[in-house]
Amino acid sequence: MVAAVAAGAFAAAAAGQTLQNTNTSNSSPQRHTDVTPLANASDASASLDSGGASGVGGNAPAGAPVLLQVSHSTDASAEAQKLTESAEITEERLEREAEERRKAAEEAARPKFVAPTNGVFTSGYGARWGGTHYGIDIANSIGTPIVAAADGTVIEAGPASGFGLWVRVQLDDGTIHVYGHMDSYSVYVGQKVKAGEQIAVIGNRGQSTGPHLHFEVHENGQKVDPQAWLSARGVYL
Ligand SMILES: [Zn+2]
Repeated sequence: MVAAVAAGAFAAAAAGQTLQNTNTSNSSPQRHTDVTPLANASDASASLDSGGASGVGGNAPAGAPVLLQVSHSTDASAEAQKLTESAEITEERLEREAEERRKAAEEAARPKFVAPTNGVFTSGYGARWGGTHYGIDIANSIGTPIVAAADGTVIEAGPASGFGLWVRVQLDDGTIHVYGHMDSYSVYVGQKVKAGEQIAVIGNRGQSTGPHLHFEVHENGQKVDPQAWLSARGVYL
């Protein structure tokens, strides 16, 4: 049975026209009256391998693709090329989207506030030595990295009275961070910095009694407690 169907399909492929004609005559209700002898002959051969004949007849749609494959060989390769190009474009787009998602996730996961440096918390905000200390002090050896405590734009970087050197960074909401006494800085005015990005190193310049970072937060023109400002944003010194 299977062999008969296969043979029928092969015959169909080899002589598609004949198969189509046969199919047409088979499906034609007029065949008996039109050409009786041929119809008889056809019936005879059909009854000879009835399984195959009915198989081919039933597989008429399946026989058609065999013919299509042969006659469309060049178009098929062009279409295959198009499909490959289309698949490549889709793959590139998916890769680009995946990269964008990865970057967005990375940005979302990135800490937006960090401690400006590591070291010993030596002095808080408030009254000190008969005056007011308008920032916090974190002591460490000269050369210890100082990083931006938040995203912002550098609005000043250079010498400043009392601070020796200072760097001032303005956040998007207008808040200003002041870093003082550093040994050197590595940013320029107008530069965008991100939280955690190194901007300077600890020094002992200006009115300083030892290597440390002096850090201030100015909110709406007021010098506020940096420790409280940071802790309100999840950074505890
Ligand atoms: Zn200080």
